[in-house]
Parts: sequence; structure tokens; C-alpha cells
Amino acid sequence: MKSLVLFSNDLRLNDNEAICSAIDGFNETSFIFLYDKDLYSSTHGSANLWWLEKSLKSLKIRLQDEGICLHIVKGEYVSKIVEIASKNEVQSVFLNENKHPNFIIKEQKLRKELERINIQFKSFNNTNLSEPASILNKSGEPYKVYSPFYKHCKSIYSQNKVFNFPTKQINTFNINEDSINTEEIFPNSKNKWSDKLNKHWKPGEIEAHKALKKFFNDSLSNYKEGRDYLGTVGTSRLSPYLRFGEITSNQIISEFQFHADHNLNKHEEHFIKELYWREFSYYILFHFPYVIDKPFNRKYDNFEWNKNYEVNLNKWKKGETGIRIVDAAMNELWETGYMHNRTRMITASFLTKNLLIPWQEGEKWFRDTLLDADIANNTMGWQWVSGCGTDAAPYFRIFNPVLQEKKFDPDNIYAKKWLKNFDNYADDSEDLFNKNNLIKPIVDLGISRNEALARFSAIK
Ligand SMILES: Cc1cc2nc3c(=O)[nH]c(=O)nc-3n(C[C@H](O)[C@H](O)[C@H](O)COP(=O)(O)OP(=O)(O)OC[C@H]3O[C@@H](n4cnc5c(N)ncnc54)[C@H](O)[C@@H]3O)c2cc1C
Repeated sequence: MKSLVLFSNDLRLNDNEAICSAIDGFNETSFIFLYDKDLYSSTHGSANLWWLEKSLKSLKIRLQDEGICLHIVKGEYVSKIVEIASKNEVQSVFLNENKHPNFIIKEQKLRKELERINIQFKSFNNTNLSEPASILNKSGEPYKVYSPFYKHCKSIYSQNKVFNFPTKQINTFNINEDSINTEEIFPNSKNKWSDKLNKHWKPGEIEAHKALKKFFNDSLSNYKEGRDYLGTVGTSRLSPYLRFGEITSNQIISEFQFHADHNLNKHEEHFIKELYWREFSYYILFHFPYVIDKPFNRKYDNFEWNKNYEVNLNKWKKGETGIRIVDAAMNELWETGYMHNRTRMITASFLTKNLLIPWQEGEKWFRDTLLDADIANNTMGWQWVSGCGTDAAPYFRIFNPVLQEKKFDPDNIYAKKWLKNFDNYADDSEDLFNKNNLIKPIVDLGISRNEALARFSAIK
């Protein structure tokens, strides 16, 4: 009896239910990553593809150490797997579900095609802690607000099994397909950006666990407050590892005694609550799939965004807005493929509420440049800030970037780190248009704020 394991965004050996099930009761198993160029370029931004390429290399080595070959094969997702499975007389195909809507469509089609030729298809939900369909409020409706959702999840929480990679010998079979070079996924030679990212990140399952350990040692004990400050590393920086399934929320949460009447301290619970924000975004995406490009709150469909905003949008992308903390953050993103959560909120608020540029434009840029770019978290983050999502920041909450900087980067450690021309920026809001400053803001914060308030209140 032969089985196949198909990887996508579950690039790990441990806590991998598909692997454990695929070797249980089967004599031989093969491990495949199917590179469908159209599928991957429609679901992964450039930074994602950089991570994916490195992560695959690392997974290949992990499997090699176990005496197993990872076949990295190119082709159309459904037809190629069906072809490989039938040619090799495979009885069952196993995978962990990928929750991106484009993958859901492919996986459903794959199930149908395989079952049509009597090959079993088994899929598992390892991306999330619970099945979104099973979590409903007392009226049988999906939750639309985070706090009651979290309260409910906590009240019913029980730790899922954490699967260890099997210790028994795994026999494999050769699928007789050419493996592609992973560099086809992200051609390094063509991209200098890669050198920058290399300096800051090491993808892969082992690195994910190192990052978790470092966070536990250095930052968890002050997480609730420390997570907001820009000058020090106060968060886990686990997001790209979670995005590619190199570590699971299930594994992380198993390190805590999390249950309905837990005794976690405020920092531990706050960290778990952030993991549940991730759960909540997948939950919303599942129940309201239109949120990938439309506002959760549909009355904002008619919001009056500015027109002809290309010049300002490009300045925002390049970190040339003249607002110090915004420019520093956009540089952090470009240099590292990551941006601090606090500055994600500040830059998103500036784009949508001061420049009045549609949130979808910012979401698109983040989707291409963030290593952790994630369909559920990114759309929720943007909609939250721009005021049209679930639990949205109310329309009248417009971050003042100058005050935010004073509060969360009081010694300018972050701004100095990411701005070579720090000295050319103004220090205070009153000073922004001072003629002695070399850099002038592209928009007046007060006037643009009032304009945004007027447009939002028109449809509230
Ligand atoms: C405009 C905007 C866009 C965003 N886009 C993304 C994105 O594409 N991908 C992404 O993973 N996160 C996104 N976030 C959420 C958040 O900024 C990042 O998850 C966080 O900064 C990652 O750093 P960390 O791993 O150190 O977080 P930690 O504070 O250590 O949190 C641990 C984990 O919890 C989850 N998490 C934390 N905060 C949030 C949140 N607000 N919403 C959902 N999950 C959260 C993440 O998986 C994170 O890795 C976005 C937020 C905003 C405001």
C-alpha cells in the first residue's frame, strides 16, 4: 500500500497530522511539494516566495536527514497529483488544508478527481486551533466581534494532540518525476532584495523553534506592554514561521497551561490572545469569504476615497511621506520584509485616513513585501485600521503619527535605525511645515484628518 504526502503551507515535520496518518498502515510513502506556478503566484507575494524557497530547502534537508527525498515537482496542482498518484498506484493522498481560497478550490477539485478513480483523499486542519464552522454564538450565527469569540474559544478549549514526527523507519518510493531547483520559485540572482532579507531572517522549522525559545527567554515576561514599543524587540517575530506552517499555534499553545480557568499571567494571556486574533481572521475569512477584497461592513463599499492618488501612494511605498515614523516604518518593511505591529497600524491609518487612499492599495503592497503576508491577517489588519472591518477602529480614531511616535519611540531609536536622513525631519507636529526642515510632509495632518472625519461621518 502506497501513500503520498502533499505539502503547501505546512513546511514542518512535527505536529503534522498528514505525515503521521500517511505512514500509518501504509508500506511506502512519498513526499511531494507541487509547484503550480499560477497557483503560487496568485497566493504568494514576492516576499512570501523568497521565504517559501528558503523554507523548502530547509525542509528538504530535514527530510534528507531522515533518509527521505522531498520531490519538488512542477505542474498544474490537480492534474499533476492525479497523474503521479495513478502512475505510481498510490492508494491515498494526504495533506494539511491550505486555507487560502484559491487552494481550497484546488483541494476540493483534487478530492473529486482522486475519488473518481478510487484513490482516497484525506485532509486535516492543522492551520487553526479549531474548525471555524463549529464555533457559533447562541443564535447559531458566526461571531462578528473578537472578544466574545475569544471568550467562547477559551471556554471550550482543550489541547489538541501535538504530533511528533514518527520514530519508526519510513519506506519511500520513487515517483520518477524530475525535481525542480527551488531557485525557480524565487530567482535569487535577479533580486538584490534577497541579500537584505538574508541578513534578517532564517526560514525553517528549526529556526521557528529557536525564535519561540528566544521569545520565551527575552520578551514574554513583559509582552503586554513591551509589544507596543518600537525601540526594542518585544514580540515573538514568529509571524512568517506561522504563515508557512513551520510552527503551529497548537505547538505554541501547548507550552502554556491554557484552559477555561487558567492561571496564566497577563503577559502570557495577552500573547495567546494575539494567536487568537490570527484564529479570528481565519474564522472571518471562512464565514465571510468576500473580505479578501471587500469591506466586511458593506456600507463602506461606497466610501469616497481620493482619486488620482498614484503620486502619494508611491511616496508612501518608498517612505517619502515626510512623516518621520511613517517613513521609518516603510523603510523597515523594505529592508527586512517585516514591520512592527504598531507601525503597521500607524502607516495603514496614514494611508487610509490622511491620504484617503483605498485600503486595498495598502493591502496589496503589504501582500507583496511582507514575509508574513497572510490573506486572512492582512485583510483583517487593513480593514480594522481603516474602519470597515469587524471590531474596526471607529471612524473617528485616526492615529496621529507624531503623537504615536512620541509615545512608542520616545528616544527615536526606531526612527534613527530606519532613517538615514533622520536629522532632516521635524520633531513636533507644530514644526512639520517649518521652513528650516528639509523634508516637508506630503499632507497636512490636521486638514486631512478633518476631511476624513467628514467623509466617514457622511456614511456612518
Ligand atoms: C495593516 C496590518 C496588516 C497586517 N498584516 C499581517 C499579515 O499579512 N500577516 C500577519 O501574520 N499579520 C499581519 N498583521 C498582524 C500583526 O501586525 C502581525 O501578526 C505581527 O506584527 C507579527 O509580529 P510577531 O510575530 O512578532 O507578533 P506577536 O506579537 O509575537 O504575536 C504572535 C502571533 O500572533 C498573531 N498576531 C499578532 N497580532 C495579530 C493581529 N493583529 N492580527 C492577527 N494575528 C496577529 C501572529 O500570527 C503573530 O505571529 C497585520 C496588522 C496590520 C495592522
